[in-house]
Formats: sequence, C-alpha cells, structure tokens
Amino acid sequence: MLCYTQSEFVQFIYDRLGKGKRHAALLYSEWFKTGKMDPSHWAEPQALGLIEEMLHLVDQSLLPIVSEQHDGHTTKFLLKLSDGLETESVLIPMQAGVTLCISSQVGCKMGCTFCETGRMGLLRSLTVSEIVAQVFTARFILNSPVRNIVFMGMGEPFDNYDHVMQAIRVLTDPAGFGFGPSRITVSTSGCLDEIYRFINDADPALNLAVSINAPSDQIRDKIMPVNHKWNLEALKKALIEYCKHPRREILIEYVLLKDLNDSLECADQLAAYLEGLKVKVNLIPYNSQRKSRLQPPEEEIQEAFAKRIFEKGYQVLLRRHKGRGIMAACGQLGNKDIRKKWIEKAGSSSLLRSLV
Ligand code: SF4
Repeated sequence: MLCYTQSEFVQFIYDRLGKGKRHAALLYSEWFKTGKMDPSHWAEPQALGLIEEMLHLVDQSLLPIVSEQHDGHTTKFLLKLSDGLETESVLIPMQAGVTLCISSQVGCKMGCTFCETGRMGLLRSLTVSEIVAQVFTARFILNSPVRNIVFMGMGEPFDNYDHVMQAIRVLTDPAGFGFGPSRITVSTSGCLDEIYRFINDADPALNLAVSINAPSDQIRDKIMPVNHKWNLEALKKALIEYCKHPRREILIEYVLLKDLNDSLECADQLAAYLEGLKVKVNLIPYNSQRKSRLQPPEEEIQEAFAKRIFEKGYQVLLRRHKGRGIMAACGQLGNKDIRKKWIEKAGSSSLLRSLV
C-alpha cells in the first residue's frame, strides 16, 4: 500500500466504502509522516467505526529487515521481499544530512564490467511499494533522518521507469513524506529513450545523474554494453536537450579505473565531451571487487585527473571511499547470496543458468 499518493489512497478507500475521503486523507498523512496509523488521538469518537473499516482495507505490513551492517560510517540494510529475494539500501551520513541510496531492481541487466550488481544479471524489477518501503524502513524503523534519496543502488532505474517515477510521486507528495524533488537523484547508465521521457515527465527540480565512465566510445564500449546501443554522441544529444531547461544540470559520474580511463588525456577528452552541458563531475575511484582484474588508480593519479577537470572549468568532486568495507560503495551493491537464493528457488531454467 506504499504505492499510492494521498489522492490515490483516498480514491482507493472511497471506491470500496463510498465515503470517508477526509479521514482517509488524514490517515495517509499520519502514516507517511509518523510511520503509523493511530487515529485514536485525533479522530472524533463518531468516526472511529468508519476508520476501523478503513484500517481493515489497508495493508500496513512492512518488509522485514534481514540484515543490517555498519562500517562505522555507512549502514547497509537488506529487506526481504515476498518471493525471498532481497533489496539492498545504504544510509550514508554526509555533511548536509543523511543520504539514502536505494535500489530499483534486484540485480541489473546492463552488465557494466566494473559493477557487482551487473555481475548478478537482472533478477527482477522492484514494485513501487518495494521501492518506497526502503525509505519507509530507513525513516521509521531505523529512525534515520533521511534528507536526500539517490537511485544508485541495485539496478538501472530507467529499466524500471514507470515504477521509479510513481515511487518519486509518492516520495514527493507533500501530504506524505514530502521530499522536495531537488532532494532526489535518479542515476542512469544512459538509456536514451527514458532520458527523453524523463525530460518531458519529470519535475525540473529532480536531479539526473549519468554514468559516463569513459571519454570515448572505444573505452566505453569495453566497460558499458549500453554504449553499443546508444553511443556517446547520441547520449550527448539527449543531454543537450535535457539541459535546455534553465533549472536542470547533470551529475556526471565517472568511475576511475587504473590504466583504462584515468590518464590526463582521458581527462582532456572528457572535458571536451562535456562542453556546452551544465554539469558537475563526480569522480569515483573504483572499489576493488572480489575476483576483479580492475583496479583503482593510485591516489596521485586520481587527484591529477580531478585537478585537470577542475582546471577546464568544471565543478568536480573526488568521492571518498564511504562504504567500501561493507561492499556498499558505488557499483558494489548486489551480493552473490541474493543470486544464489533466487537460483535455488527457481530451479534450473536455462535463463537462470545463464546468470550464474
Ligand atoms: S553500474 Fe548501474 S547500470 Fe551498470 S550494471 Fe551496475 S547497476 Fe546496472
């Protein structure tokens, strides 16, 4: 039931009871602002019977937390879904408040070579309720004062576009959670069809992040299969279109990979590619994964790359390694146990075998 905005929730109740719009609206607000529905201290005695009927219609059950790991700074938590799969979310304290990184899918089909989730393959997309449940749990079960939400956990959000956009409508409903759109960031690997949809659909204050990760098709083809479908030139056209709105700018994500995309020549090429776009550049040193041949560059190389981008006139952030210890840093969500559980559950279909 976490899939509704207030007006949809009110309609849901009205369709079944034929009355109670005002109390349904109050119940919704209380639920999303306090984490519970307890009308006993605000409802008039004569309305308690009606509210009781409403409560019978509302499924307030939450997804159980199956694990919670702290590394002294970030907290990763896993929620169990009804089919036995799990979502992963991470709470990251930042200077400006807590950022919650949430998943839009279990696994991901995009296959970026530097990404732990990509190695899982796509198991399935999350429902709207399962996306919103991650925020609900962070706020009301883990009591975290979440300020910002980023769709940078497991999955390609634009491969689950409709559910992600409805989840954003729920999260930004002023009668509910009331997150300002500027506090939410959606990250994509460059799914062009959905970027164009986003340009038309999304509140201009919502933030878009794009994983570029390479300054040329030659390099990007090697690490991001999406580039075979939509190359950098096509992506740039979409980003120019996106930036036409005066309020919009793009967060460019660039995972630094040793000897692959970390040279000063790459920095120059990247800066040239970004010309004409309103962007901030977020550099993320690769987080070594289990059994990966990829490596992060030395710190001096990272800093030199950041300096060169800065000198070219871009705002640049070299991200610290928050979450590395619990495999919760960028591209590291998605644990192999989730994949194993799914395979055990589903038997030995050839589709699933291909994911192993
Ligand atoms: S980096 Fe993002 S899009 Fe690429 S495989 Fe990982 S989760 Fe999917």
